[in-house]
Amino acid sequence: MERILPIPGVEGEKVQLATKAIAHPEQLGQNIVILGGGSIGCEIGLELAENGKNVTILELTDTLAANANSLYREALRQKFLLHENLHSLLKCGCSRIEEDVVIYKNESGGEEKQLPYDQLILSTGLVAQRQLVESFYGICRDTVAIGGDCVSPSNIMNANFEGYTAALNI
Ligand SMILES: Cc1cc2nc3c(=O)[nH]c(=O)nc-3n(C[C@H](O)[C@H](O)[C@H](O)COP(=O)(O)OP(=O)(O)OC[C@H]3O[C@@H](n4cnc5c(N)ncnc54)[C@H](O)[C@@H]3O)c2cc1C
Repeated sequence: MERILPIPGVEGEKVQLATKAIAHPEQLGQNIVILGGGSIGCEIGLELAENGKNVTILELTDTLAANANSLYREALRQKFLLHENLHSLLKCGCSRIEEDVVIYKNESGGEEKQLPYDQLILSTGLVAQRQLVESFYGICRDTVAIGGDCVSPSNIMNANFEGYTAALNI
């Protein structure tokens, strides 16, 4: 599930989780702010920009898709350059979300700035639901094995490997 940061205004009506936003892109407005420039936030931003939306990605660190490898990042950079309607603001943290504007600050401090938006997409990471996973333990003897994103959000290769290993142990 998505990690929801305790940012004032995050419960607002115009705030959507990344996984919901990609399921229903037709429900998004024209001006999109994406909070979080990891690979998921970047890919959503790119796709929305390709479909004509005005997109700004706010990222706290100095790198987009820091979780991806360097070839991926270079390909992403080149794709971003093709779209004038796709912007990224690095080293910028969102401090609150108001009805029509997102308030953010540069890492080095300074004055708060505003970004108008129709929809804000939260893409600030995923977390495993450990309590839910642990609730399955003890239902039947020797039958619970865990793998994939319920251990820790990762990727398809790791999920496959962990599933394969669990099956071998049965
Ligand atoms: C937007 C996005 C893009 C991604 N892109 C990539 C990528 O390009 N490459 C890559 O390697 N990884 C990517 N990932 C990560 C990858 O999707 C996951 O790491 C991988 O799918 C994890 O596999 P999983 O089997 O653990 O979980 P999932 O694939 O999420 O499967 C879990 C399944 O369990 C079902 N389920 C949930 N609760 C219950 C229940 N109570 N009872 C029964 N069934 C239930 C769900 O419906 C779902 O089908 C991406 C993730 C996201 C969110």
